Amino acid sequence: MAPIPKAEARTVSAIYAAYEAANRHYDSLGISVGEIGNPCDRALWYGLRWASQPETIEGRKLSIFRTGDRWEEVLTDDLERIGVDVYGSQERIRLLGGHVRGKIDGRAIGVPEAPKTEHLCEFKSSNDAGFKEIVKKGCKEAKPLHYGQVQLGMHMFGLTRALYLVVNKNDDARYAERIEYDIDYCARILARAQRIIDAPEPPSGISKDPEFFGCMFCKHKPVCHDKATPRHTCRVCIHATPEPGGDAHWSCARWAKPLSIDEQKSGCPAHLTIPALIHGEQIDVNEENESITYRMPNGEIWVDGATNA
Ligand code: SF4
Ligand code: SF4
Repeated sequence: MAPIPKAEARTVSAIYAAYEAANRHYDSLGISVGEIGNPCDRALWYGLRWASQPETIEGRKLSIFRTGDRWEEVLTDDLERIGVDVYGSQERIRLLGGHVRGKIDGRAIGVPEAPKTEHLCEFKSSNDAGFKEIVKKGCKEAKPLHYGQVQLGMHMFGLTRALYLVVNKNDDARYAERIEYDIDYCARILARAQRIIDAPEPPSGISKDPEFFGCMFCKHKPVCHDKATPRHTCRVCIHATPEPGGDAHWSCARWAKPLSIDEQKSGCPAHLTIPALIHGEQIDVNEENESITYRMPNGEIWVDGATNA
């Protein structure tokens, strides 16, 4: 007989639950530089449009995130201990009208390999398998998401080099790589991001097969493959547009006005979901009532628009 797994101690369950209770969902106002290396255009579009329900993150995973934050402080201390001047932690990245955004871990002068060159700093902590992969292949190949983040950080601040410093959480080994600014890469990835920002409908994804490996752990799988209804916010309404100027500004064509963040989160009674996000067949449009009628996969008729108010 297989051994019966032991129940989790109540103390441990309580600790995880406390992490979960303290966790607040945060909607990124744009495409995060930490995700821009994601190969799926559709996933980035869903994220920008707040299409998916907020993720439920387990307490143990939240604890891992907090450990990662602590490692950032330790790696900063490491550099300062060897005489590197680290500054600018949490400076903001704002690109393409603020629709691409993030923060940096810092900038540094005095890096031993090139003491006079100002470097962007990117600090990461990794499990043993991930660390070995980084050591073997380097940042660009092993961690394309980190590479995109580093490149756009350099692009934002006009830097030519980055220091990518990683710690192995299993044995405290350190890995340092100096990464060169790649202007062609940045031009390509920003052009791609602009296409995604401007797309009125979800662009193509990496696969139409829900069992495809790259989709299995995607947080947008429910809306993408499982016919889940998108969140009710302005960002999935046909009347909303991301504006090019300012800092992640959006406007509403229905009411001819800019939209505050709070307005975007709640929407209004005139909300009309972008039809490509509805998993049904569009069978009618009533311009006077501002409604769209669908036949859903179960045969039911569903009217989106003013009648929902
Ligand atoms: S489920 Fe797959 S295709 Fe859909 S958004 Fe995620 S990665 Fe892209
Ligand atoms: S019509 Fe309403 S829900 Fe749609 S973008 Fe305008 S304010 Fe938002």
